[in-house]
Amino acid sequence: MSDGPRYICCKCNVRYKKISALRSHQRECGVGAECPVCHRRVTQKRNLPKHMEKHKRDGSWMDEDNMKDLKMFS
Ligand SMILES: [Zn+2]
Ligand SMILES: [Zn+2]
Repeated sequence: MSDGPRYICCKCNVRYKKISALRSHQRECGVGAECPVCHRRVTQKRNLPKHMEKHKRDGSWMDEDNMKDLKMFS
């Protein structure tokens, strides 16, 4: 038997090992979050840090204060 993640979100197919992790994911799954830099919506809060990396790389966002705001989203 495999020990891989077996709880799967039916909306986005992300997998979790623990049902409790899946449940807390599903509370925000599909809700999305707004990027404080470009105000675009990302589909999931957990994708926001990744989206932010893009801003950091292209230099459109380097403000440490915004970083604190981001913590509220993540
Ligand atoms: Zn999901
Ligand atoms: Zn953005």
